[in-house]
Amino acid sequence: MSTPLLRIEGVWKTYHAHPVLRGVDLDVAQHEVVCLIGASGSGKSTLLRCVNVLETVDDGAIYLEDDDITDPGADPDQLRKRIGMVFQSYNLFPHLSVLDNITLAPLKVHRRPRAEATEQAHELLKRFGLADKAGEYPDRLSGGQQQRVAIIRAMATRPSLLLLDEVTSALDPELVTEVMGIIRELKESGMTMILATHEMGFARDIADTVCFLHDGVLLEHGPAAQIFEDPKEPRTREFLHRVLESRRL
Ligand code: ADP
Ligand code: MG
Repeated sequence: MSTPLLRIEGVWKTYHAHPVLRGVDLDVAQHEVVCLIGASGSGKSTLLRCVNVLETVDDGAIYLEDDDITDPGADPDQLRKRIGMVFQSYNLFPHLSVLDNITLAPLKVHRRPRAEATEQAHELLKRFGLADKAGEYPDRLSGGQQQRVAIIRAMATRPSLLLLDEVTSALDPELVTEVMGIIRELKESGMTMILATHEMGFARDIADTVCFLHDGVLLEHGPAAQIFEDPKEPRTREFLHRVLESRRL
């Protein structure tokens, strides 16, 4: 097998003497879509934040295309240029138009020519059904549209890896599908992604690999169908059962 795009090796992260990640190992191949599932507080966001160099790790290492991103000498800004991240709260700049939100990083961080950045932004907006919103300000858009813009903004820097942390959790149910649609299309275009999600149906549908985190331990991972239909760990089974039950209420 070829080298993975991302390799997470024995990662530990502790906050105030409380271990939040406990020896997490995970390889992500190019074009693979990995979903992180697990109860609130199990460490999903922390793991994504470690990958995006927003947190330092206490032990272990993370490699992106063979570069050790956990090396204290590595430049986080350089590494982050190769990784896109989208959060639950879209974090668009309210004082910038949709177009300016999208072109900001390509212009300022990646130093691309304005004409090229603008053209690419328009292409992405068109591709994701927001061509008429380029000049709009974020507060004039629905939550679903804002989140789609946030994903487009992350894609505009042409990252090797896209991290999505609960990107549908703040949305009204009727807006969730439009955001899932864009993620599905990114998968079809070959984008490598790691998503933390509470949407089990979506995880099952989109993930190549599903990882179940429990108290900072990656207890089980495998193909989506196996994790959802035949989980090996009792804790995975309990979690899935609980999620299903809560849906029925
Ligand atoms: P998840 O995304 O699965 O809900 P998190 O990664 O956000 O889980 O959190 C895992 C644990 O780490 C939780 O107990 C949380 O309270 C704790 N935690 C997360 N971030 C911090 C922080 N900056 N300082 C202290 N504790 C934190
Ligand atoms: Mg989280």
